[in-house]
Amino acid sequence: MLEIKGIELRYGAVKAVRDVSLRVEKGELVTLLGANGAGKSSTLKSIAGVLKPARGTITLNGENISSLSPEQLVRRGVAMVPETRDVFPDLTVDENLQLGAFSRRFDTKAVAATRQQMFELFPLLAERVKQPAGTLSGGQQQQLVIARAMMSNPSLLLLDEPSLGLAPVIVDKIFEMIVALRKSGVTILLVEQNATKAMKISDRNYVLSLGRVAAEGTAAEIAERSDLKSIYLGS
Ligand code: ATP
Repeated sequence: MLEIKGIELRYGAVKAVRDVSLRVEKGELVTLLGANGAGKSSTLKSIAGVLKPARGTITLNGENISSLSPEQLVRRGVAMVPETRDVFPDLTVDENLQLGAFSRRFDTKAVAATRQQMFELFPLLAERVKQPAGTLSGGQQQQLVIARAMMSNPSLLLLDEPSLGLAPVIVDKIFEMIVALRKSGVTILLVEQNATKAMKISDRNYVLSLGRVAAEGTAAEIAERSDLKSIYLGS
């Protein structure tokens, strides 16, 4: 579904990603691991069209998407949940969800069906449908931003550190929800610093170090490489 070949990503003179290649097959849950500053978030941003590669290519379902805008990518089925976990605080839970469906707002039946599906997956959101999003807890806001991304009906969901700053019991819930989403058919590329938990639910993993892929493999294959532990468990 997704193939990245030799991308370089820059912020002006800063090279955030030097040479990353990876692939995600349809239906897979793939995790990107690595210490702070390894280039994980930048890689996700490049797939979502927020950051354009200075070198290399990004292909989605056989189409080169390297120069497409975020709006064009949403229409092609890519949705990203950034690590900043931004909700529209003064809007209700329901209004936040409706904004996630902006790209297909005229398809009211399909949007209503997805909304219902999200309420089944995230029952807590159904209970708080009229509540301003800014009054939700961190874990609840994380559920809302994931559900909001799902409202665009993506085939590829990019999740940036969904467990960041959450209490362990809430982290477990978020991971359960990621597994449930994956079962519902969406392909997921997950960035996580919580490597042990992430590898338990993933099909394959990439370990990034200093803007390059240091290793790729299943949890068992990665665990065998004791030299990598300081990289992906470092923080
Ligand atoms: P983290 O978990 O801390 O977000 P990461 O692996 O996601 O780490 P990136 O956020 O992709 O890493 O950052 C990779 C490199 O790019 C780092 O050296 C970082 O300082 C730099 N960088 C990231 N964003 C910017 C920016 N907006 N401007 C300049 N440099 C940036």
